[in-house]
Amino acid sequence: MTHSLELPRLNTPDLAEISRANEAFENSPASRIIVWAAETFENRIVLASSFQDAVLVDLVARTVPGLPVVFLDTGYHFAETLWYAEQLRRRYDLDVEIMAPVNATEDQWMTDTDACCKARKVEPLERALLGRDAWMTGLRRSETAQRRNAPIVSYDIGRAIVKVNPIATWTDLDIEGYVKDHDLPVHPLSDRGYASIGCWPCTRQTSGDDSRSGRWASIEKTECGIHD
Ligand code: SF4
Repeated sequence: MTHSLELPRLNTPDLAEISRANEAFENSPASRIIVWAAETFENRIVLASSFQDAVLVDLVARTVPGLPVVFLDTGYHFAETLWYAEQLRRRYDLDVEIMAPVNATEDQWMTDTDACCKARKVEPLERALLGRDAWMTGLRRSETAQRRNAPIVSYDIGRAIVKVNPIATWTDLDIEGYVKDHDLPVHPLSDRGYASIGCWPCTRQTSGDDSRSGRWASIEKTECGIHD
C-alpha cells in the first residue's frame, strides 16, 4: 500500500503527533484514515466491532482486507446480532476473534450494570488489546451528546494505545447513504425500531432523535465503559 498524506508513523505514544494526525484527518474520507492506520500500525491494530451495522466492516474490508476484528460476546446479545455477525463474517471472510467474559456473574445486569459491563465488555476488550498498539472503532460524534467531541485519532490513556475512529464525523444520514449506495445487509432489528443495538437486557427500541436512547433506557447510564 502507498499513501501520499505526510503524516507521522506512530511507533511511540507521541501525543503531539497523535494530535497532528487527528487534526489532519478532520475532513478526510474514512478510507484514507483506515489505510493510514493500517500502514502505521501494521499487524498491531485491531478493529473492535459490535456488528450493529456493516459500514465500518465494509470500509475496512475494501481498503485493508484481513485486518483482524474483535467481537465482545457478552453472553447477552440478541440472537439476531449473533446471526448478523456470522453473515458479515462469511460475506467479508473476516478474521474474527470472539472474546468471552471469564469472570462474570450471572444476571448481574439486574443489580449492577456497571459491574456487568466491566466483566462482560471492558475486561474482555482489554484482553483482546494486549500486545496491540492501536484499536479502531465505529464510534461517531452524532450518536450522543457525550460523544460530540470524539476525536478521530487519540491516545487511549487507560489502555496505553492509540484509538482510531474513522467514521467519527459521520451522521446517521451518512450511514444510511453508505448502506444504500453499497447495498449492505442490515441488522434485522434495525428495521424494527432499534437504532442502537447492544445486549438484550439493556436495549430497548429507540425513541426520539437520540439513536442511543434505547440503551440502558431506564437508568442514568449512557456508556458501557469501553469508550471511557
Ligand atoms: S449492556 Fe447490560 S447485559 Fe450487556 S454487559 Fe452491560 S449491563 Fe451487562
